[in-house]
Amino acid sequence: MIGGGLAGLAASVALAEAGWRVRLFEQRPFLGGRAASYVLPDGEHVDNCQHVTFGCCTNLADFYRRVGSAGKIKFFDRLVLLDPQGRRGEMHAGILPAPFHMTGSFLAFSPLAFKDKLSIARAFYAILESGGHPPEVDEPGGISMLEWLHRQKQTPAAISRFWRTVLVSALSEELDRIDARYGIDVFWKAVLSNKTGYRMGVPAVALGDLYEGCRAAIEEKGGQVVFRSPVRGLRIENKKLLAVLFDQGREETADAFVLAVAHLALSELLPEDAKLIDSGLANLDRIANAPITGVHFWFDRQVMREPFLSLLDTTTQWIFNKSALYAGANGTGPAPSERGQYLQLVISASYDFLQKPRQEIIDLCLKEVRHALPAAREANLLKATVIKEAAATFSPQPGVDRWRPTQQSTIGGLFLAGDWTATGWPATMEGAVRSGYLAAEAVLRSAGTPRQFLQPDLKPDGLAGLWVKS
Ligand SMILES: Cc1cc2nc3c(=O)[nH]c(=O)nc-3n(C[C@H](O)[C@H](O)[C@H](O)COP(=O)(O)OP(=O)(O)OC[C@H]3O[C@@H](n4cnc5c(N)ncnc54)[C@H](O)[C@@H]3O)c2cc1C
Repeated sequence: MIGGGLAGLAASVALAEAGWRVRLFEQRPFLGGRAASYVLPDGEHVDNCQHVTFGCCTNLADFYRRVGSAGKIKFFDRLVLLDPQGRRGEMHAGILPAPFHMTGSFLAFSPLAFKDKLSIARAFYAILESGGHPPEVDEPGGISMLEWLHRQKQTPAAISRFWRTVLVSALSEELDRIDARYGIDVFWKAVLSNKTGYRMGVPAVALGDLYEGCRAAIEEKGGQVVFRSPVRGLRIENKKLLAVLFDQGREETADAFVLAVAHLALSELLPEDAKLIDSGLANLDRIANAPITGVHFWFDRQVMREPFLSLLDTTTQWIFNKSALYAGANGTGPAPSERGQYLQLVISASYDFLQKPRQEIIDLCLKEVRHALPAAREANLLKATVIKEAAATFSPQPGVDRWRPTQQSTIGGLFLAGDWTATGWPATMEGAVRSGYLAAEAVLRSAGTPRQFLQPDLKPDGLAGLWVKS
């Protein structure tokens, strides 16, 4: 196994469970890849960025259960949004069955006017009517979410305050660069088809603490996790991967190799002729990346009560109250300070921040936090950190699925995992785990011992099943 991100970990744990001796090589000194936590030079423990899951992420939930981390995720039923005028909106399920469970909170949602809500309801109906898959999303090359919203005659406020707010956070990309299939899927899986898909799960511990059970699962079967071991090349002969190459000419052989690195890292490792043998590997460079920025603030006092807030019409999209989220947790994450408060802000699709100086980002976000949270106006900011991830996710651009290879390569012994492989899901922890399970299934299939790890989606419940096409 090459790569100790969620994809590599999910594949490793599945293969170990099937009795395989897995050796996992990771270039960094910790597990988790893009969903990792580490220690800053000043000794502060931080996640590279806040990560959240949702009720509809069934494979990630299964993975956390397998490695004993399910209890380290806190689930919330209420999502609170705040606009610059101080108007609050809440999204939560009421007593009505799906797909009508959000009707009450949607009607009461004050940041949107009635005509905007009406236009959103119309678009929801179009999604429902198609069983979550309107035919126009299958147009050659795909269509963008923005195009689909225009075709649904959405009002400008519905687009900017509702669709954009939800989708930029969920898919880390702007509406004109999101394939409508992905955008619609978010609403079908998390909002319309069942009552629990929208529930948001937030780790109550540092991200790294979620992976403690992975190492144990691998080692129990005689396997090994080897850190600081970057793979430098692949030895492919006669259409078969024979060995992976490390520094000082060291080689490692195996019965099967799962490459669970990011798509551009894989593209660099692959010899050019490998891309001719397996045409699925020829287009990895066409998959673009999208950035996410995390801004970390440490205040000298409590400035926020809610566990998290989503902001409308601001650069800052989410504020997470890390002190509250970690409170009472048993993990090794930062202990909640009695008086101070640690907040983490998330800005997805943060293209504008890539070239901006760190201090300018801090100043802008601090201004927005102080506007949203009156208690922060009097508070002193003790410390701030900005973590820019330029390649946070692959960009779910229209037609991107054409370039996503399956987990089984036509090169013998080579299997692929990673959120960017063909899973049907966007770049998420769920997508990464799905890819890992699919890679493990492909390895076992080719060894003649098939087994299933992939978990099904949540079933449509309530009345939503009436719209599902058989
Ligand atoms: C800032 C940010 C915020 C995000 N927020 C969310 C969120 O809220 N919810 C959500 O679901 N998803 C979120 N994501 C996306 C999620 O983190 C990723 O989709 C997922 O972690 C990808 O996992 P992966 O295993 O496919 O890839 P990676 O995590 O990239 O794992 C690849 C691993 O391979 C290693 N590697 C690379 N090259 C080599 C080599 N040559 N030799 C050895 N090892 C190598 C890397 O060090 C890494 O550990 C976020 C991502 C970022 C960056």
